Amino acid sequence: MKCRKCQRKAVINMRQHKLSLCAEHYTDWIPDQTQRFIEKYAMFGRQDRILVAVSGGKDSLALWDVLTKLGYEADGLYIGLGIDGGIGYSDQSKSFCEIFAAARGLNLQVYDVADRLGAPIPLAADSVHRGRGRPCSVCGMSRRHIMNAAAVDGGYDVLATGHNLDDEAATLFGNTLHWSLEHLARQGPVLEARTGLVRKVKPFCRFYERETAAYALLRSIDYVYDECPHSEGAKSIYYKQTLNKMEDERPGTKLHFYLSYLAAKGQGAFAETADPGAERLHPCPTCGQPTTAPGECAFCRTWDQVRERSALLL
Ligand code: SF4
Ligand code: ZN
Ligand code: ZN
Repeated sequence: MKCRKCQRKAVINMRQHKLSLCAEHYTDWIPDQTQRFIEKYAMFGRQDRILVAVSGGKDSLALWDVLTKLGYEADGLYIGLGIDGGIGYSDQSKSFCEIFAAARGLNLQVYDVADRLGAPIPLAADSVHRGRGRPCSVCGMSRRHIMNAAAVDGGYDVLATGHNLDDEAATLFGNTLHWSLEHLARQGPVLEARTGLVRKVKPFCRFYERETAAYALLRSIDYVYDECPHSEGAKSIYYKQTLNKMEDERPGTKLHFYLSYLAAKGQGAFAETADPGAERLHPCPTCGQPTTAPGECAFCRTWDQVRERSALLL
């Protein structure tokens, strides 16, 4: 297998694009394509300040690397969830982010959930769900809140996340199986800003997971290999496995699925269900972030409850 551009030995073959590239051309191709997607979906411009949500995984660190390589002003935000899982998951993830930022002289902000809110995510979720179920709903809701607050308070124009095509296709698959029109209306490379909510973008949404992994490897980016221990058995993993089987038999299935959805959305599909909660948004009386919930937002209510229950246990 030879590189299409220089005929040297290729390191990757992207069957869906019928394209093989050597290490040098591949590590140029990823930033070139990212820049193309940034422009195509009007994600942000050269003057914008970007906050990249980094988890210590390959996608978010590769994204931070690419944006920096492209010359954008991008800071990182790491949220310490306090997840151990017998492998020191959060500690490991944090240290990969810190090493990455220090080696490149980049600015990394660290938000430690236990220090700031009084309990790590698994303990908080246990106290809310009384020891039953996964911590994922508390975790996801808290992360969304913290990321938005960090971006708004820090005066950033845009919040970038490292979601890749496998993530997006799996989410789309789930949303389609449930005909979740509200989610289908909101999914996409850009979620526009609204009062109190920063613009969110996913510059890697058209790259396969193996492509971001190959980029991280070729750029010698060290990242946490383990998945969060709480992700085991998650529906999103089952959807990814199902889509992988389809992709193996028909290369390009995931990309086609996602791009066809974007095309349909561009033609007005789901337009009537777009943003059904927009008119109900109001600032939370406690934290000021927009919410559609009556009274306090879900974040404030949940963490009030966590603190009350922890106080009772003391
Ligand atoms: Fe949070 Fe882990 Fe669940 Fe992901 S899998 S939402 S990181 S607890
Ligand atoms: Zn080449
Ligand atoms: Zn609130």
